[in-house]
Amino acid sequence: MEFDLIERIRRHTDVNRDDVATGIGDDAAVVAVPAGRELAIAVDTLVEGVHFPVGTAPADIGWKALAVNLSDLAAMGATPAWALLALTLPTSDEAFVDGLARGFAELATPYRLALIGGDTTRGPLTVTVAVHGFTAPGEALLRSGARVGDVVMVTGTLGDAAAGLRCLAEADASPYVALVERLNRPTPRVSAGQALRGIATACIDVSDGLVADLGHLCARSGVGAEIDVAMLPRSSAMLAHFHDADAIDFALGGGDDYELCFTVPADRANEVAADLARIGGGATRIGRVVEGAGVHVIDASGQAVAPVRAGWNHFAA
Ligand code: ADP
Ligand code: MG
Repeated sequence: MEFDLIERIRRHTDVNRDDVATGIGDDAAVVAVPAGRELAIAVDTLVEGVHFPVGTAPADIGWKALAVNLSDLAAMGATPAWALLALTLPTSDEAFVDGLARGFAELATPYRLALIGGDTTRGPLTVTVAVHGFTAPGEALLRSGARVGDVVMVTGTLGDAAAGLRCLAEADASPYVALVERLNRPTPRVSAGQALRGIATACIDVSDGLVADLGHLCARSGVGAEIDVAMLPRSSAMLAHFHDADAIDFALGGGDDYELCFTVPADRANEVAADLARIGGGATRIGRVVEGAGVHVIDASGQAVAPVRAGWNHFAA
């Protein structure tokens, strides 16, 4: 039965790469790292009821489990290559595994990302993916390089996933498909991350909320940041369904956006905005790096805005 499930996953996710000497089927995968490249490696776990709502479609779970990992590689400016998938399932449900593998493959195939192994166990529904990507030595985008005077920018729009989660509580969520789609099928900004290599001074992906994640970047860089609330990129889908106060709340504190938040020298902000507009998704200037510590959100008159919600924290009381 377990072999059967693994074989199903293998069939759905078949991507051929010359650098995979041995993939699924042996005790360990064997791969060749290209000469002169460094590996960027990340792992993320999705637990049912914590990272995705109970009842999420299997294909969406498969997509999201990979997307959150590709987002970590994107934040490093890395090029995705290989993945491992550890699945814990309550029952041996073939239809579920087919759906999950299909959703995973939908995102993996365009990147030519090969699933090279994993593990399959019984227990509460939990999906762990590990990804490996390539970077040129010394070129990975880190959280630690932001400098006072840099501009803070973010790709895409913020708050849609949190808005989508709120919409799921509605009896009929069908008017909000665009928002729910952003929750269930986040777009990792892989090409944007690659385009930022050699330009961004620091970068992080927004998984827990803008204020929380930019806070991590600031802490690692030893700086503070000021965010102009009026500049936050918010989607027309979110603005059509939520009042300003909620929309700002989602954009500042909502998790699961998987956009990139990064810093660039002020004189390169226009060039970066133009580059990322061409790639798709775009990027918006939302603030600046300042001396001190922490993230300060200000309104048009320069007054402090207190974020209504803190970022997601698994161990918060
Ligand atoms: P072992 O007992 O040696 O760990 P497994 O039966 O767990 O072997 O796995 C057999 C092969 O199938 C290994 O190559 C492993 O990487 C792969 N595999 C197991 N589960 C998965 C999965 N969920 N997705 C992809 N590959 C898997
Ligand atoms: Mg095993």
